[in-house]
Amino acid sequence: MDDFYYEGGALRCEGVALDEIARAAGTPTYVYSHAAIQRAYTELDEAFSGLDHLVCYAVKANGNLAVLRALASLGAGADIVSGGELYRAMRAGFDPKKVVFAGVGKTEAELMAGLGERILLFNVESAPELERLERLAARFGKRARVSLRVNPDVDAGSHDHITTGRERDKFGIPIEQALALADRAKQYRCVDIIGVHQHIGSQITKLQPFRDSVERSAGLVEELKTRGFDIQYFNIGGGLGIRYKDEETPTPKELVEAIRPTLEAAGTKILCEMGRFISGAAGVLLTGVVYRKKSGEKDFIVADAGMNDLLRPSLYDAHHEIRAVEQNGSVTGADLVGPVCESGDYLARDRELPDAQEGDLLAVMDAGAYGFSMASNYNSRPRPAEVMVSGERWSVVREREHYADLVKGELVPAFL
Ligand SMILES: *Cc1c(COP(=O)(O)O)cnc(C)c1O
Repeated sequence: MDDFYYEGGALRCEGVALDEIARAAGTPTYVYSHAAIQRAYTELDEAFSGLDHLVCYAVKANGNLAVLRALASLGAGADIVSGGELYRAMRAGFDPKKVVFAGVGKTEAELMAGLGERILLFNVESAPELERLERLAARFGKRARVSLRVNPDVDAGSHDHITTGRERDKFGIPIEQALALADRAKQYRCVDIIGVHQHIGSQITKLQPFRDSVERSAGLVEELKTRGFDIQYFNIGGGLGIRYKDEETPTPKELVEAIRPTLEAAGTKILCEMGRFISGAAGVLLTGVVYRKKSGEKDFIVADAGMNDLLRPSLYDAHHEIRAVEQNGSVTGADLVGPVCESGDYLARDRELPDAQEGDLLAVMDAGAYGFSMASNYNSRPRPAEVMVSGERWSVVREREHYADLVKGELVPAFL
């Protein structure tokens, strides 16, 4: 089932023609399918059936309030990595009892905000963080519910920038040190070690790294229990990949079946925290063609969306399918580039692309995760609008930024 499909040569999102959205909302615009978000979440949730579990959504993949509300309404939890994401999650209506907070550099203000909301778990990534959490909880008369984020030293095999579970990566606590840290925490009065957390990377397309890491981390669950810790949660992280091009990715069911015996043996509530799998395929970036340009042998399609709107191609050399919003059947070998003043500003390079002419519309597929959330104002470009479609209805869920937004908060000092 695809929520983006052609009908009579026109690309649609659920019951709405993308051309209609582009005409009304302009371009570039992100378009999200409510049905696709629901379907992905439900597929994950059902994969874990038979296990006491909670599927959390990694807010950093796409933190738009409408996306978050859609997931909160389905009963999802939220995986956050900053105070700003906590704010978003609360604004969107997530139950704080379903919020888990990861990140290597949580500040005092962020830890306090989490304590204030009485979130489900802090995924603590170092000894000094645990110590600071104890101090703050004591000072404010709170209890901190803690999972230790371990680094299982498994290579997830994805892009170097998004692989997080190897010893040389900055994330988590080496498994050998986790036991010592837990023992030290026994003296802490306000911190309860009740979980084990791991997250080994993103866009993982193989089962083996999940199997290996879950097994290692489950060993720690077991060991902590043996030492008298009341471990109630085992968080296996996120990172399940999606198909951008021709990747063969495991389904949620295949993932869970591969590790089910280990999860059952752990005897805890199972948490996962997927971002890309839930929102990635649920969004496209609509962009208009500004110019066609030839430069020697190279053919360029110049779009009104660039690396500031969708950074993944420039940052990770990531592949996104490009589709014509109105099919005309012809293709051309070209680069799809943006207007930003950087040679690295492209959406697709050396590719067979729809032969789009000035004024035509293109859809950059699978842009629902790490799309808008990584957008910037580089080159003083207002960030795109965001739209959500549900059946025949659609609504702007974030206005396109105005020029005034670009200088918001800037002040020219009196001495000038
Ligand atoms: C980014 C992140 C996730 C989500 O990763 P996806 O690849 O989007 O599923 C989950 N947990 C943590 C701790 C993260 O940093």
